[in-house]
Order: sequence, then C-alpha cells, then structure tokens
Amino acid sequence: MAQSIFPAPDHDHDRCTADALAHAEAQCAKRAQRLTPIRRQVLEALLTSHKPLGAYEIIERAGESGSRPAPITIYRALDFLRENGLVHRIESRNAFIACVNNHGVDDLVVFLICERCGAVGEAASAAVAQTLKTAARSAGFMPKAPVIEIGGVCAHCREKQ
Ligand SMILES: [Zn+2]
Ligand SMILES: [Zn+2]
Ligand SMILES: [Zn+2]
Repeated sequence: MAQSIFPAPDHDHDRCTADALAHAEAQCAKRAQRLTPIRRQVLEALLTSHKPLGAYEIIERAGESGSRPAPITIYRALDFLRENGLVHRIESRNAFIACVNNHGVDDLVVFLICERCGAVGEAASAAVAQTLKTAARSAGFMPKAPVIEIGGVCAHCREKQ
C-alpha cells in the first residue's frame, strides 16, 4: 500500500498517464462535459511527473508543444479540472497536482508531501474523515471537504539513506 501511494522511481509512468487521461475522459463523459484540448493539455502537463507544478510551470509546459496559451485560459482549464476532481491544489506549495486516484470530489484527501524528492502521494482514510467531521460538527461547524497536507520523507527516499 505504502509503495503504491508513491510509485517506484522506475515504474511505468506512461501507464499512470494513460490511466489518468482515460479516467478524466470517463469522468467528463459522465458529467456531460468536454475535456477540451486546452483542458487536456493542462492535465498532460501535470501528468509528466508525480510532483506538483506551479501555475507558471504549467503555462511553460503547455506551450512546449506549439503556441503558448494565454495564462487566463490555463487558469480557466485548471478551475475546470479542480471542480471535477481531476486536479488538486497543494496549498502549502502553491502548486497543482493531477489526481490519479479515483475518489469522490467530496472525499477527505491526505497529501503526503516528500520533502526530499518533491513527490506527492494521496492517501485516503474514511476513518480520519469521520473523526474530523464529528469534531467539526460538535463545535457547530459546517465543514467543507477537508484537505490535510503532511510533509515528510517518502519510502523511496528513506530507502536511499
Ligand atoms: Zn507514475
Ligand atoms: Zn485525488
Ligand atoms: Zn521522496
């Protein structure tokens, strides 16, 4: 389990990319929305690795395959991808990451951020989600979908020590 959250450095990343794009296509079809070329381009830029990218880096990468899109179109595509649960924002890094997990838009997401290699893994825990919701509600608080970011060292970087 710990290994699959952080794919091995020599894993078949083309497979991750293909799976994530197929998931995105299916998700858009289900919601009667379109994964337009620009949305796909932004998602592909984010899928080049398991490391988050800042908005500026996304603009740079999206422009590599031809004419550079205007930043506003990139931001709109990012908004769309985030609203549909295909991309997450990592607040502590002010960066974005493609979601490779097939979870609900309102699920609790725990981001495990490796401080050595910069990889970000997503862990999900229904038990943690329930505990947080109960704690929030008992304070009379109406929680939105919670996001937790935890910094640390991933299994692959620990092995290298
Ligand atoms: Zn991968
Ligand atoms: Zn996710
Ligand atoms: Zn690492």
